[in-house]
Amino acid sequence: MSESTEEKTEQKTEKEVLTRRGFIGVGSAALAAAGILTGSAAAGQDQGNTKQDRSKSIPGPANAPLDAQNPDSMWPPSTDSKSLVQAFKYPFAFANKRTYEGGWSREVTVRELPVSKTLAGVNMRLTAGGVRELHWHTADEWAFVLYGNARITAIDADGKSFVADVKKNDLWYFPSGIPHSIQGLDPDGTEFMLVFDDGNFSESETVLLSDSMAHLPREVLAKNFGVGEQVFNNLPKQELFIFKTDVPGALDADQKAAAGALGESPADFAFRTMEMPPTKRTKGGEVRIVDSSKFKASANVAMAMVTLRPGGLRELHWHPNADEWQYYISGKGRMTVVATGNKARTMDFQAGDVGYIEKTLLHYVENTGDTDLVFLEMFKSSYYQDLSFSEWLTHTPPELVMAHLHVDKATLDAMPKDKTVIVPE
Ligand code: MN
Ligand code: MN
Repeated sequence: MSESTEEKTEQKTEKEVLTRRGFIGVGSAALAAAGILTGSAAAGQDQGNTKQDRSKSIPGPANAPLDAQNPDSMWPPSTDSKSLVQAFKYPFAFANKRTYEGGWSREVTVRELPVSKTLAGVNMRLTAGGVRELHWHTADEWAFVLYGNARITAIDADGKSFVADVKKNDLWYFPSGIPHSIQGLDPDGTEFMLVFDDGNFSESETVLLSDSMAHLPREVLAKNFGVGEQVFNNLPKQELFIFKTDVPGALDADQKAAAGALGESPADFAFRTMEMPPTKRTKGGEVRIVDSSKFKASANVAMAMVTLRPGGLRELHWHPNADEWQYYISGKGRMTVVATGNKARTMDFQAGDVGYIEKTLLHYVENTGDTDLVFLEMFKSSYYQDLSFSEWLTHTPPELVMAHLHVDKATLDAMPKDKTVIVPE
């Protein structure tokens, strides 16, 4: 058995103890072996064997559930560098939540995850009838529906109206300055992920209809709208942000009422992701790439929605054109990022986590669970672009590659010649 195979086996055994079997039903010996038992419990295992290597023990305080979710931080693969790499993961579970009657909102921005400079994410829930108040902002808003049904409204740059209903896996895109709203529909509203093309974005820094009205002199409002000042006596005293009202009626009635004499917008601010066949499908999984070539409104944000089957690998690659912001929808995986200056770090991900990779850094994502791993790769770019490690090595003069890696021609010939995207092919 080669040294690297041995390491792999040892790692897998640890990982199985940590992630597959969890803690319940795992004996104290196994836990001690995995380095989870602390203090006297672990010391007890050593009685009669004082020479046992205790390097992989943690006698001090530990947060066992979090350690179990992060086996590659607990005991990094030997290929990770000892030089530190800034964290590239932040769980939405840690995020500060704003709660309302009608829903809630939480965000992961550069303030929570300092490496995430180009994109920020907002996760929002609206119950049936719950409304994200009419508003706009300085950043572009890209959205992915995680659950349920919603009605979205906007006007385009010509003032023409847009009203549509969206469901799970659908997208929408509202460019900066385009005013819009979102409302949960029957039977149980919606939950969605918003991605903004600015890491500094905050959902608390938007221009709200209620705030705007509250900060304008009543006589100016009266003059502007051609009505009496007294009609504004019941304006909300505080911002609404999220509030509850009745579930709206039929879509076509809303569309007609909003369009008026001006007519509906020819622009489509929504995209039906699952009506598009996968961009690439292999034994290891599938990917749907949606950028401005497919979804015209999405001028500044590109998406790859990736599904990895158990054991599947999003192949080693990098993105020459943009940083990558990730959101994990389901399953479990791990990712190593090879940074500049001989540095590398591996981190573990599961549903609800945000990941981030800076432009040009080499990485892979591996499904380490026994269910599908589904995640979004997001880019601040009008187009999706990646370079494959395999494609690079197999399209460089072979003698040159062999001289670097000390591998033979047969090995090089066995490597995939084209971008696989997801292995196994
Ligand atoms: Mn918005
Ligand atoms: Mn990537």
